Order: sequence, then C-alpha cells, then structure tokens
Amino acid sequence: MQEKITDIIKKESFTKEDLVRLLSSEGEERAVFLKKVAKSYIGTIGKKVYFRGLIEFSNYCTKDCLYCGIRKSNSKVDRYNIDDDAILEAARFAHQNRYGSLVLQSGERSDDAFVERIENLLRRIKAETNGELGITISVGEQTEETFRRWFEAGAHRYLLRIESSNRDLYYKIHPQNHKHDFDTRLNCLHLLKKTGYQTGTGVMIGLPFQTYEDLADDLLFMKELNVDMVGMGPFIEHHDTPLYQYRDQLWPLQRRFEVALNMIATLRLLMPDINMVAATALQAIDPMGREKALRVGANIIMPNITPTFHRKDYQLYENKPCTDEGADDCTNCLNIRIEMAGREIGYGEWGDSRHFFKRISGKQ
Ligand code: SAM
Ligand code: SF4
Repeated sequence: MQEKITDIIKKESFTKEDLVRLLSSEGEERAVFLKKVAKSYIGTIGKKVYFRGLIEFSNYCTKDCLYCGIRKSNSKVDRYNIDDDAILEAARFAHQNRYGSLVLQSGERSDDAFVERIENLLRRIKAETNGELGITISVGEQTEETFRRWFEAGAHRYLLRIESSNRDLYYKIHPQNHKHDFDTRLNCLHLLKKTGYQTGTGVMIGLPFQTYEDLADDLLFMKELNVDMVGMGPFIEHHDTPLYQYRDQLWPLQRRFEVALNMIATLRLLMPDINMVAATALQAIDPMGREKALRVGANIIMPNITPTFHRKDYQLYENKPCTDEGADDCTNCLNIRIEMAGREIGYGEWGDSRHFFKRISGKQ
C-alpha cells in the first residue's frame, strides 16, 4: 500500500520516491499537502514578502536556447537596449518606492563593452541610492573575473537557472555547441558561490521530455549545490522557437502550473530557509499565480519596472503579463494582492537569504 502523503510531509529527510509522490500529487491529496506546507512554513521564514524591482534592460542575446522567445536566431524580435539613464531612473523609482532591491536582467552577452557597462552601471546605481538598494544580476554565464568585478561594483546576488539538472534533457532544450555547455553553466554556479554572491538557480517545469523523476532530481540538485535562492516556473511555449514543435506532447498549461506550485511547496520542505521567487510565468497561466505561490512557500516577488515601451519586446514566452502596465499600476495591484494572500511586504528591506548567512558561517 502507498504511504500516506500526510506521513511523507512529516519526515525529516526525503527519498527521491517521496519527492516524486509530492510532485505528482493531484486532487484532494495535493490540496492536503499544499495546505500543510502553507500552515507550517511561515513559522520558519516569517510572513514577509520582499520586492525585487525587475529591469529587463536588453533583449540582445548571443545564445540560442531552444525554448526562449528572445533567442539570437529569432529574427522577428525588435531588439532593444535601454540606456543607462533610463535604467537609473527605474532604479530611483525602486528606491523611492522602498522596493529594497532590484534585479538587472537581459539576454546573455560577455563582450568587454558589456562587462564594463554593467560594472559602471552598478557603481552609479549604488552611488545614487546611497548604497541602500540591494542588487541582483541575471545576465547569464560569465568568467570568474567578470563575476568578481561586478561583485566588487556592488552586486551581491546572482540568478542563473540550470534550467534542467538532467544533462541529457539539458541538451534536448539547448543547441549542441560550445555556447550551450552544461558543465560551463554548472561551473558558473560554483564560481558565483566562490566569489561571495548569494547564489540562485532554478529550472523550468513542464518541459518536453521532462518527467516527475527529473523534477525530483532538480530539487535534490538544488539541495546538494546548497543554493541560497531559487526561481523556478512553468515552461510556456513560444511559437517562434524550435521547442514549439513539441507543444502537443506537453502537460496542459494548468497541470504545468499545478506542478510548479508542487515544486515550490516541496522545495520549501527540503530547504526551509532559502529565498524563493514567485515567478512571473505563473501569472501568465493564472492571474493570481504569484499569490498562490506565496501561499505555498515563495517569499520573493519581482514587480516589473522595465520602462513600459520595451516590455512587449521581452517576450520569452506567450501571454507574458504586465507588458502594457506602468510600474505604478503593478505596485498598487501587488500591495492589495499580497495582503490578500495573508502576507506582509518588507518595504525598504533587502530580505537577504537566511540560508546564505548560515552557509557562509559554516552552519549549513
Ligand atoms: N539570459 C539570462 C539567462 O538565460 O540566464 C537571463 C535572462 S533569461 C530570459 C531568464 C530565464 O527565462 C531563463 O533562465 C529561463 O528559465 C526563462 N525562460 C526563457 N524562456 C522561457 C519559456 N519559454 N518559458 C518559461 N521560462 C522561460
Ligand atoms: Fe538568451 Fe537567456 Fe533566452 Fe537563453 S534564456 S536565449 S541565454 S535570454
């Protein structure tokens, strides 16, 4: 007879089979599981939700990930590069509205001009906000030297999703060339930790060819890598990408959404003190998607503060939300939604990963 899900949740450590049971749960059993996690995890990390104002400052990319709408080979995309002054303006907006932190995100580039530009930008943002704004970067794979320069210029968190920890699956969703190398990506995560960043990774959920076993391994990978932050969300197909050809083999969108919440709740059991993002892709499927993620384990929200006129050009997937709202609209609606989810916003606070401090003190 199968073990009861309520007994699995009570365990101190989980086998891969336990994780598969939790991730694949449906219906009444799933409702019981999520409710239990929702009740217990606030006791560990508290009620607060922290904002990271997201600036998607450029959609130029040198890579060709087979799932991504802004991949290099998609010639239908209007490419943009928001200038430094406009980025600073958005950073000032985040600071004035007491967002605590911002995330600088773009397609991947590693040329000298780009590296230098980010370095200068970081110094300017720090100077203009009296060092009060925490900064996360998410611009892909870089050299150790680049990671170090940006760290010294003021960035202290870095998000680099492994996308899938299954090497074979990784190569099914990326082109087979040296620009898309699993080991290089994995090594970057080690370099980020070594440099001193609060290090974040994550995966997409509901990829073609992906199984519950793969997802369980993804969670074990995050635990093993001892990361400080995780951002993971549903895969959403984009019609101008190669993976679109598998659209008939995917889980229905609603199931991808459910499994994404199962992943968040399960990881919260495995890693109680990390920071976890309520990913924007959840909202593309369910208008209350991010709030539902907050209920079951997420504690970070990334309101989009990219200047409105460029948002439509950063379409990683279809139906991406908030492409025509101004930053203010997003902030107001978020306040109400977060309170409705029974949570509190940590205004003006960095809300750093508790796990990070334990890790560097050798306690985790
Ligand atoms: N270029 C950087 C990188 O790849 O790490 C950062 C920006 S990239 C657009 C941010 C994340 O978007 C990726 O890590 C990937 O997981 C996610 N993404 C891209 N295409 C997606 C899709 N079709 N559905 C869901 N998420 C997607
Ligand atoms: Fe470029 Fe990142 Fe999209 Fe890959 S996921 S194509 S690196 S923007």
